[in-house]
Amino acid sequence: MKGAPSASLQIAGIGLCILLVTALHLATPLDRITLHEIYQRLYYIPVLASAVLFGLRGGLGAALFASLAYIPHIAIHWQHSNPSYALNQYAEIVLFNIVGVVTGVLGDRSRRARARAERTAAELQKAYADLRQTFEQLLQADRLTSLGELSAAVVHEVRNPLGSIKGAVEIMEDGLPADSPRREFADIAKREVDRLDGLVGEFLRFARPPKPAVAPAHVNEIVRSVSTLIDQRAASQSVSVEMSLASDLPLVTVDAEQIKQVLLNLVINALQAMPKGGRVVLRTLCDEKGAVVIEVEDEGGGVDPAIATRIFDPFFTTKEKGVGLGLSIAYKIVLQHGGSLTVKNSERGAAFRLTLPQL
Ligand code: ADP
Repeated sequence: MKGAPSASLQIAGIGLCILLVTALHLATPLDRITLHEIYQRLYYIPVLASAVLFGLRGGLGAALFASLAYIPHIAIHWQHSNPSYALNQYAEIVLFNIVGVVTGVLGDRSRRARARAERTAAELQKAYADLRQTFEQLLQADRLTSLGELSAAVVHEVRNPLGSIKGAVEIMEDGLPADSPRREFADIAKREVDRLDGLVGEFLRFARPPKPAVAPAHVNEIVRSVSTLIDQRAASQSVSVEMSLASDLPLVTVDAEQIKQVLLNLVINALQAMPKGGRVVLRTLCDEKGAVVIEVEDEGGGVDPAIATRIFDPFFTTKEKGVGLGLSIAYKIVLQHGGSLTVKNSERGAAFRLTLPQL
């Protein structure tokens, strides 16, 4: 406990108390019996304190120490002059030994009960946190599934007509003279069709990400290759990419390309969150359950708590030119790997945490 004196200080205090009571006995004339009777009861204070603080060992230890300190006094001064009073004193000593033992046993028992209650409370709290996380993941997975199905249907309806539109524009373009100003409009139409087609392709990747082709992989290598991919772009906007990689990580069974895609998405988001430069830290570690964790931490001010529950939703974006699919695709990929993707705000920015269970 913060601020509580250390155990050795407490033991010294208890010992000192016992010696002080003994000193009072020695300093008081033998005929002041009433005072001696008060003093002998003062021994209960350190004995009880020690039993409460240190349990059976404390109670018994203090009682024995008090006995040792007090017995010579009785034996030397009263044994001969007043044997019946001496007997009374010995009985008192037996009593405070019994009190020390009983209080100590009770103290030990209540301490064990308290420790058990604290352990149970901690386990309950953890179980509650796990349950909440699972619930949120299920909710997210459910949202992803329904929106995924919806976008798959839309994509299906849009992609084929797009092909026909492009074909029709090309045919019309063929009929135009080479210097016709209308050719420019045909170009615009084709460019827009291509853009839409690209967007539709992205939706498709979200709706039907390929099943992970898993193989044993080293997470640190995946992180290093993402860092290499992004280094130049980061440098061009004055962002330094730092790596803090645990050296003794187990292999994970993942689709390395898909996990790279997830990380790349996270790092690109981090760069976009820091247009004026800053630092991205890529960290790997093993959590307490033995799962491998990759963290991406930036200094971009973090995710606004008001939108934190929505950023993994498909098509949710706060960016002017954003599509809002990066994080939802990343989430889906991680889910297919049996892992989890969460976000927390750190001191200076967002910290995304990707957990991959050992398969
Ligand atoms: P997009 O990048 O197209 O907006 P994402 O799904 O990748 O789509 O991101 C969704 C939203 O999550 C972003 O628009 C942004 O508001 C938020 N976000 C993602 N990464 C970060 C980050 N590192 N820092 C702050 N906000 C972020």
